[in-house]
Amino acid sequence: MRSMMPQTRRSPWRGGPQPMQSIDFDTRSVFIGGQWQPASFGRTLPLLNPSDGNELTQIARGSPAEIDAAVHAAQAAFDGPWGQLTAAERGRILLRMSTRVAELADVLARMEALDVGKPVKQGLADALALARYLEFYGGAADKVMGETIPFANGYTALTLREPHGVTGHIVPWNYPMQIIGRSVGAALAMGNACVLKPAEEACLTALAFARIAHDCGLPAGALNVVPGLGDEAGAALSRHPGIHHVSFTGSVAVGQLVQAAAAKNAVPVTLELGGKSPQIVFADADLDAALPFLVNAGIQNAGQTCSAASRILVEQPIFDKVVKLMGERYRALRVGPAIEDLDVGPLISQRQKEVVSNYLAIARDSGLRVAGQATLPANLPAGGCYVAPTLLAPVRDDHRLAQEEIFGPVQVVMSFDGEADAVAQANGTPYGLVAGVWTRDGGRALRVARRLRCGQVFVNNYGAGGGIELPFGGVKHSGHGREKGFEALYGFSALKTIAIKHD
Ligand code: NAD
Repeated sequence: MRSMMPQTRRSPWRGGPQPMQSIDFDTRSVFIGGQWQPASFGRTLPLLNPSDGNELTQIARGSPAEIDAAVHAAQAAFDGPWGQLTAAERGRILLRMSTRVAELADVLARMEALDVGKPVKQGLADALALARYLEFYGGAADKVMGETIPFANGYTALTLREPHGVTGHIVPWNYPMQIIGRSVGAALAMGNACVLKPAEEACLTALAFARIAHDCGLPAGALNVVPGLGDEAGAALSRHPGIHHVSFTGSVAVGQLVQAAAAKNAVPVTLELGGKSPQIVFADADLDAALPFLVNAGIQNAGQTCSAASRILVEQPIFDKVVKLMGERYRALRVGPAIEDLDVGPLISQRQKEVVSNYLAIARDSGLRVAGQATLPANLPAGGCYVAPTLLAPVRDDHRLAQEEIFGPVQVVMSFDGEADAVAQANGTPYGLVAGVWTRDGGRALRVARRLRCGQVFVNNYGAGGGIELPFGGVKHSGHGREKGFEALYGFSALKTIAIKHD
């Protein structure tokens, strides 16, 4: 039997100036059925600060036993107090959570900066996005409706949208708060009870979120958080027979494992996977407007963004000019510890640094030209996971760096000749997540947008500032299913048809 421990080891995250500004949780615990408890045998994992390599704290190493307990707690909540709330009552709880997250956004932002290595301003954007997801889904909870269907004489036929039951959420380290907001937020709004497995590299804000949800009146068991290793806790969650839907965000390889595991239970899966997203710049584009988006969409979060625009396709006549302007921006980028809040922080881990450095070595060995590179300051902490943001141009579309997801601050620039070539190159990778099109020609923008094989296209912008309202997801190796927007509520529910014979 696991003992239910009181919170004896407090987290370092209390430290705000007033009690109102603290989030009190135990980093070494899992959160199950509204209780904080240690993992089996008290096992923990170190959590490192990517900015300097130092240990921040220890986190619980959740095992299949904790996953099992969390699934049972979720089912009990679904069958009990949580399942009995009206949609409007669920919505009000989410709205309270939204307000609380917004009040604590600064604390969450700094926590994320330390844990993930992202500049504080990015952590703040993530925290406010989490608040906005909760606001959006809180407001939407009682607005999901079925239909009546014109059917045979003597019948009334209608549809209901019902929660799946217990939903599993496996989340990566790059945007924990945003991904929790869009997946757990939507699942809770529909009345599901959730088991969340955050990434082992970054789980502080997931635990903080559990605390906030609890304090805002979310019934025990409606949200359970079990940190742990992917092939232990994550695998146990994806194959658990008590899970009725799995939402996975992460790499293609692990997504395939998760889908195979869930298939054994024949339950639906949403896969939000990787990308190699292009921004296409036509010669008539407004370059002043485009330039910040071209670069930011490559270096935001140190390039560790599923929808990073890691390929820039530029029409031949303006190729040299765009490369020169982008290169200047790269040389001006400031890199440093997350807490210093510069343009680019470290990567998440030494392992990720190695992956990105290997790609840069491939670029060097194959003679790719560095068209712009930031300078790493000499005084960066030795244990930090820093890589110099690098722009490579020109790059052929069949080069590995133009085909594979690097997940670091590296962009390649390719040239194209006309619309057909642009579309062919843009569609020419195994991925299909997001694309950007820059042109002043409205007809061309629509033609190209419609021919791109991906889940989102942005015209004369990129990302639309996060677009909480905009359905998001991929095709091909970027995954399937849609999160964000109202569409996510359909994914986190099942449609029931009722046909009543009355004559
Ligand atoms: P990852 O696949 O290694 O890990 C993601 C999550 O899966 C983590 O919580 C991890 O613990 C867990 N996991 C690992 N092995 C598992 C297993 N065998 N069974 C179940 N769960 C397991 O991915 P990552 O390196 O953390 O994240 C980077 C990848 O995520 C990139 O490819 C990126 O493009 C993708 N991503 C996609 C989106 C999107 O919305 N499309 C968003 C963010 C990240």
